Amino acid sequence: MRTIVFVLFTLFIFLNGQSQGLLTEKNNFTHQDTLRGSITPEREWWDLTYYHLDVEVKPDAKFISGKNTIQYKVLKPHQVMQIDLQPPLQITKVLQDGEELQIRHDGNAHFVTLINQQKIGTVNSIDVFYEGQPTEAKRAPWDGGFSWKKDHNGKDFIATSCQGLGASVWWPNKDHMYDEVDSMLISITNPKGLTNVSNGRLRKLIDNGDTVTSHWFVSNPINNYGVNINIGDYANFSEVYKGEKGDLDMNYYVLKDNLEKAKAHFKDAPKMMEAFEYWFGPYPFYEDSFKLVEVPYLGMEHQSSVTYGNQYKEGYLGRDLSGTGWGLKFDFIIIHEAGHEWFANNITNKDIADMWIHEGFTSYSENLFLDYYYGKEASADYVIGTRKNIQNDKPLIGYYDVNNEGSSDMYYKGENLIHTLRQLVEDDQKWRQILRGLSSTFYHQTVTTKQIEDYLSEQTGIDLTAFFNQYLRTIKIPTLEYRIKKGKLKYRWINTVENFDMPIQVEINGKSEWLFPKMKWQSKKVASEDFIIDRDFYVNAKKI
Ligand SMILES: [Zn+2]
Repeated sequence: MRTIVFVLFTLFIFLNGQSQGLLTEKNNFTHQDTLRGSITPEREWWDLTYYHLDVEVKPDAKFISGKNTIQYKVLKPHQVMQIDLQPPLQITKVLQDGEELQIRHDGNAHFVTLINQQKIGTVNSIDVFYEGQPTEAKRAPWDGGFSWKKDHNGKDFIATSCQGLGASVWWPNKDHMYDEVDSMLISITNPKGLTNVSNGRLRKLIDNGDTVTSHWFVSNPINNYGVNINIGDYANFSEVYKGEKGDLDMNYYVLKDNLEKAKAHFKDAPKMMEAFEYWFGPYPFYEDSFKLVEVPYLGMEHQSSVTYGNQYKEGYLGRDLSGTGWGLKFDFIIIHEAGHEWFANNITNKDIADMWIHEGFTSYSENLFLDYYYGKEASADYVIGTRKNIQNDKPLIGYYDVNNEGSSDMYYKGENLIHTLRQLVEDDQKWRQILRGLSSTFYHQTVTTKQIEDYLSEQTGIDLTAFFNQYLRTIKIPTLEYRIKKGKLKYRWINTVENFDMPIQVEINGKSEWLFPKMKWQSKKVASEDFIIDRDFYVNAKKI
């Protein structure tokens, strides 16, 4: 998620940051940012294996209470465990083997001292009890928290969202991307007459009298921010998609009044599945099904329960982000948020500084959807059209270990650098196999940018070190400087990092050919001054 509003927000930071300098920005991180964003010694020693989140939601009081059972494997001996939970929610007690444990509170981090000796290789668990009125989202999904809304019939319409801010805004957990839990049970109690939809599959539904409890089980690794509660007066319809791995259940939960509209509009969902399985390989969570769930905000990539609030319009709330018309050929939220099942949920960044892996590839997936249904030219129009949204304010990679995202250019610049890479591969079948290989090589893993870079260099057979340094770590757009005089073309790269030598396709006198510019001038004979740089490359040109 994160798009337009966030871009404006980032722009503000940029204008602000320019006067202070980027170094100041780096120094502005707090002790709390480090606790949230780094793999602290109190996190490092244990590996998450299982969560059972058991929560009651009381809409009238905007109050939640419950517990999270955190099961973990001991990797090295240590007696103190960091658990994250953001105020105003409060941990009321933590138990292990029936004994209450001591807690030292440090802002959003809570350090629990374990009594029993933690032996390497053993699997233990703690129960973290908590309650309170959670932070209310003002501009979901961008700020995050609980959205306590009503539908048109005055019924409660409630949802959680927490990307960036962190899942600890509504439940206690190990709130860092590097360690995904292996599986999870989500048990939600809510007033009778309303339905809760969370991730994975519904195991059972218990009638408690005034309330109901739904037990949702996720059988695959899931990142914290992907976990969600959606409570509403839902109607449900479903279909079985014949996919690469067999039958895939696709379920749709929408407000009752929107049922007929949704049945027509959600045809984009199986279309999405067909295109993305073609390009990226099998949907990564067959065991957990695929769901689209209507929510009172725009949408989010919640794993196996992608949330939807695009008002049943094509494009992004009816707008085309590329300005080419192609963006109105699909519902942006269905395509983009579901694209995240491959990039964010299957392949997850270890540190949020590498979030371009999520947003760059997912934004790129929009153009592959177009490629699949409308062809290569349409998809190229689209991705090139999005370039106008690039700010080049700061690099795509953020600061590590402080829960810092890079520039919001991770969307449009991200997709354009990947589109440029496709040109360098110059073989669409090979390119497709490389993309599918990403999904299988890093299946259900958390990764670093370096791992993705190394994989792509290896698979393309091109040393992409300078390419990625240029596009991910600087705001400089490589510029082809050239001059044509007396039948001679002189050309070189400027505005680049060291050793940047990307080949580029050009058209000279109506004929397409590759140039191999370096930072030093090179030259070649040309028959005319008719010279065009292939628009598929995200570069600038400077004629002198
Ligand atoms: Zn996204």
